[in-house]
Amino acid sequence: MIYFDEALQIVLSSAVVITESEHVGLSMTLGRILASDIISDIDIPPFDKSAMDGYACRAADLDRLLKVIEVIPAGYRPQKVIGQGECSKIMTGAMVPEGADCVVMVEHTQEENGFVRVLKKGGPANISPRAEDLKQGDTVLSRGTIITPAEIAVLASVGCDPVPVVRRPVVGVLATGSELVEPCQKPTPVQIRNSNSYQLCAQIERAGCVSCYFGIAEDNPQIIDRMLKQALAESDVVLLSGGVSMGDFDFVPEILRQNGVSLKFEKVAIKPGKPTVFGIRDGRPGARYFFGLPGNPVSTFVLFEVLVRPFLFKLMGSSDQRTRVMARLKKDLRRKKTDRLEHIPVFLNADGLVDTIDYHGSAHIHAYTRANGIIVIPQGVEEIKADSQVSVLLIN
Ligand code: AMP
Ligand code: MG
Repeated sequence: MIYFDEALQIVLSSAVVITESEHVGLSMTLGRILASDIISDIDIPPFDKSAMDGYACRAADLDRLLKVIEVIPAGYRPQKVIGQGECSKIMTGAMVPEGADCVVMVEHTQEENGFVRVLKKGGPANISPRAEDLKQGDTVLSRGTIITPAEIAVLASVGCDPVPVVRRPVVGVLATGSELVEPCQKPTPVQIRNSNSYQLCAQIERAGCVSCYFGIAEDNPQIIDRMLKQALAESDVVLLSGGVSMGDFDFVPEILRQNGVSLKFEKVAIKPGKPTVFGIRDGRPGARYFFGLPGNPVSTFVLFEVLVRPFLFKLMGSSDQRTRVMARLKKDLRRKKTDRLEHIPVFLNADGLVDTIDYHGSAHIHAYTRANGIIVIPQGVEEIKADSQVSVLLIN
């Protein structure tokens, strides 16, 4: 059995970054990862830009009655140079005319018969200078950046469409368990609905990868072997749930070995998720990485968030940028056994307090519908007192 930090270290250091990239239309890039640095082809703003609707003039002239010599809408090149005692009416986003060094807000002026009086002086210049935000030739985003709406705006501004992004890894999902039926079926009294596969596919998609579901394998070595071979052949990474513990029907580790998967660890000192398996398959076409997650729904959920997700981001040349915040625990947290590091679902409320959630253990996935974070109780720790600062991994 190894510690969680070691397991994470092994997993992350095994990830060989995907070098294949593709060009994708800008509007399809949300959640994708940049495959190269992005350079701006222009200055932003591209010209000295008015930040207000108002009058462009000389700051030295504000005490005078100013003659309006031109109206400058956005998208129009000013034709006239501002001289002494002159101004041009200008709109937000329009190019500031030559000769002007400030824009007086329209709210601070009074216009009559082609002349303007400034009623309130001493305001800001209201001009955004050319290249204030970005310079032509600047690297505006770097390779490995996760594309969120703000990056999409920057990519659009610098004319990057289509966008070079890292190929999305295909993550195959396989469920094992003779008790499992698909969600559309009514289980008999001895059956369980397969929730892990659908949850894992959603987690994979949320991490910006492609999910591929291969179905339920009964706890039968031939069936597991056949379905595993297919998943390995058609994916970059395979996630399997169930069948990795010590039960009489947990055949997976042996079948993995027969399929060329070299297991790097088979047990981690964590709760939930102790029988988590990770292996590498070298020198064969198809998947290079294999994760075997214990079948209990919370184990599958948490192990994906804390182990598989960071791995997938590393594989894509990035890092998982989920927020961790320090916050105060609302109530005492106590447990009996301290031999493993434990992940607990919590709710971080708007006051910055961390509330625990009614949670019955690793089958109780419903608890996670009320959680927005996960905290860790370290190995050896029996109690965390109310008001202690804890690190919350935000998972929404
Ligand atoms: P296992 O790891 O195969 O021993 O399974 C542990 C527990 O998780 C058992 O109660 C299983 O019925 C349950 N389980 C296994 N696979 C799934 C699944 N795909 N969806 C929901 N529950 C599952
Ligand atoms: Mg099972």
